[in-house]
Amino acid sequence: MFKNKFNRKKTNENDFVGTVSHELKTPLTSLNCILQVAELKLKNHPDTFLADSMGKAINQVNKMQKMITGFLNLSKFESGKVCLEKTEFCMNELITSIIEESLLAASRRIFLHQRNDIVVFADRDKIESVMVNLLTNALKYSPNGKEIHVNIERSASEVVVNITDQGFGIGEQDLRNVFERYYRVESIDTKHISGFGIGLYLSAKIVKLHSGKIWAESTLGEGSTFSFALPLHERSDNGILRF
Ligand code: ADP
Repeated sequence: MFKNKFNRKKTNENDFVGTVSHELKTPLTSLNCILQVAELKLKNHPDTFLADSMGKAINQVNKMQKMITGFLNLSKFESGKVCLEKTEFCMNELITSIIEESLLAASRRIFLHQRNDIVVFADRDKIESVMVNLLTNALKYSPNGKEIHVNIERSASEVVVNITDQGFGIGEQDLRNVFERYYRVESIDTKHISGFGIGLYLSAKIVKLHSGKIWAESTLGEGSTFSFALPLHERSDNGILRF
């Protein structure tokens, strides 16, 4: 009885989140297009303020689009509408390109530690979103000037990726909850940092759909390491994937 009521409430809430984010997406996409055309037209305008303002407006719209995409993904996961589209790809290449993009956006020192190329059979886009989320968090929750280290390792049966920052860290009690939906740590260091507490929740869902593991270790005031592991496969002589 109680469970039914709870499930109904969750479904209603999920429908609401799905509808709102879907409705917000359309006008934002149009707004983005308009701003991009305006930015282009104002490129050689004598008043540089106008072109600068368009660039800044586009950045803000992009941020909003990312948030809305997060909520849309949340609603898809909650309603069980997500399936994996697995392909073979090189994990090192994917992570290298994500780091290169992050370096362009944030002037921080990010070090990649890897040995051999590791090929996985997974949903590339979804693993990309996990990696982007963990790296964005490492940047978001550590002060400027602090290093970030990304480590890719392979064991006999899995690939393990660690993202280590030297940031604010997470206390023991919060660490148990950070993968929960809407959970955010409340502290003086993080209260000015925006977010909705859905990134880690979605990342955990994606990794679990791949039969993988995700976890975090942290010391308050010293930094955190977020890690995920994905099972590896082998290709036999006749080309069949073996797990
Ligand atoms: P968001 O960052 O949007 O709040 P997430 O689900 O990605 O949502 O993270 C949940 C919470 O976990 C964050 O609000 C933050 O308090 C904490 N957190 C995540 N990553 C880190 C990190 N690398 N260092 C410190 N705290 C973190």
